[in-house]
Amino acid sequence: MILKENIDSIRKNLPPGVKLVAVSKFKPIEEIMEVYKFGIKDFGENRPQELSKKMNELPDEINWHFIGHLQTNKIKMIIDRVYLIHSVDSQKLLAEINKEAIKRDLRVNCLLQIYIASEETKQGLSEAELIEILDMKSLYPNINFKGLMGMASFTDNQDKVRGEFKYLRGLFNSVKQSYFADDSMFSEISMGMSGDYQIAAEEGSTFVRIGSLIFGEREATIQ
Ligand SMILES: *Cc1c(COP(=O)(O)O)cnc(C)c1O
Repeated sequence: MILKENIDSIRKNLPPGVKLVAVSKFKPIEEIMEVYKFGIKDFGENRPQELSKKMNELPDEINWHFIGHLQTNKIKMIIDRVYLIHSVDSQKLLAEINKEAIKRDLRVNCLLQIYIASEETKQGLSEAELIEILDMKSLYPNINFKGLMGMASFTDNQDKVRGEFKYLRGLFNSVKQSYFADDSMFSEISMGMSGDYQIAAEEGSTFVRIGSLIFGEREATIQ
């Protein structure tokens, strides 16, 4: 059973302006509907097939966020309906999303995922790769550059996590100034999950992505 109190307490802990994405990966339609009825309209998924299926079966009002590693051959499965792709982690992926968007006459909302943790397993662009993309951002006319995303290290060391979020906020501020000073669209920082969302919110997150605190622990531990 999903407890409304869990959602209310997360909402209470979030400063105004920090938006909640309920991460529903591996969770069945019925449980998502339960959360939807508590007033949540933003859901996050990390596998294209699963997202595509849920998009078809759940209400049109839902904003679907894609938060996982996206292979270029899977872009087609989600591009028509996705609200925001949080996890653009390579120049190649960005170019392919742009190409598919041009074919469909769409503009696709994207965040560039930055590698901020000290774990090899996490995805993301380095600062140098980010700059390389932004120096040539006119190559991607059908991409709406909405901001940056990052995942902190999985650790109990809160100072370390806070430092990683601070770094992402600093990087956001500097690219905002250099590349998007006149572009109000570039305004989002997606950081913070069940274990670290309060730290992320304190450090300037605008989207927190929360799964297990809402839905309970996932049986599958794969991200
Ligand atoms: C699974 C996942 C989350 C949510 O994780 P929880 O710890 O369950 O809140 C957030 N972001 C990404 C990218 C994820 O893959």
